[in-house]
Amino acid sequence: MIRLILLIFVPLLLTCPAWCGELFLLSNQVNNGEVAVMYWQGEPLSFGVVRFRDEVFYLYPDSAGAVVLLPISLDVPEGDYPLAAALVDLQGRTTVTELMLRVDYKNRPEEQLTLPERMVTPVAQDVARINREGSLLNEKYDLRSPRLWTTFQRPVDDPVNSVFGKRRVMNGKPKSPHSGTDFRSPAGTLIHSISSGRVVLVADLFYTGQTVVVDHGEGLLSIYAHLSKVLVEEGHELLVGDTLGEVGSTGRSTGAHLHLTVRLLGERVDPLALLDIFEGSLNP
Ligand SMILES: [Zn+2]
Repeated sequence: MIRLILLIFVPLLLTCPAWCGELFLLSNQVNNGEVAVMYWQGEPLSFGVVRFRDEVFYLYPDSAGAVVLLPISLDVPEGDYPLAAALVDLQGRTTVTELMLRVDYKNRPEEQLTLPERMVTPVAQDVARINREGSLLNEKYDLRSPRLWTTFQRPVDDPVNSVFGKRRVMNGKPKSPHSGTDFRSPAGTLIHSISSGRVVLVADLFYTGQTVVVDHGEGLLSIYAHLSKVLVEEGHELLVGDTLGEVGSTGRSTGAHLHLTVRLLGERVDPLALLDIFEGSLNP
């Protein structure tokens, strides 16, 4: 079930019978680091586009019309933002409209970590490896496959022990914010794909150890890190909930846990916020 509390519709009812449909945000308020969801429900579109902060996002078809997931990155300042949309129907008629999105600043905790110094300040040979692996990952984050995502579910049933966006200090040095969500799962716990998709990377990486990357289409990817065992291969098609590996502590990790990162159109977004919007629901 979708959380009903999120169902604050901000409807735009377009004139019928010339144009029948409704453009709305699933919620007109999000926090920085989260995802805004915009729907068109009505007659089929040949094209739909929305502009947010000088960036353009394309709506893509779903069963009731069209949808787009907008990444609201951690560095978006608090404020009210216009979302300017242009919709074109199958006859080529265009409607231009605007919705407002409220972005609130979410205060995220700070975390002090102590790790082997080589994991915090990599030596030259590690830097070369880290750069190579970064390029490989960026290639995957740039994928724009057709939509494969369906419903969403948590990758494991265990509690969260470190949230997305935490400011981190490692061995006394400030580092980039936590890029994902950590689940406190014992080693060997089976990990499930958060939605349907295709495995696009299986690799043993410096920071994230044994890693699986799943492409859910339309620029949405999930990354599962520190695995002890990988049970899929690149190219495998997964349905939501399919098992892809086992929890471990490989790479830069101080103990068994699952680190889950979600990338949306290249931006890191809060995995839990995305799962909370869609968990268990089909075409909300
Ligand atoms: Zn983590």
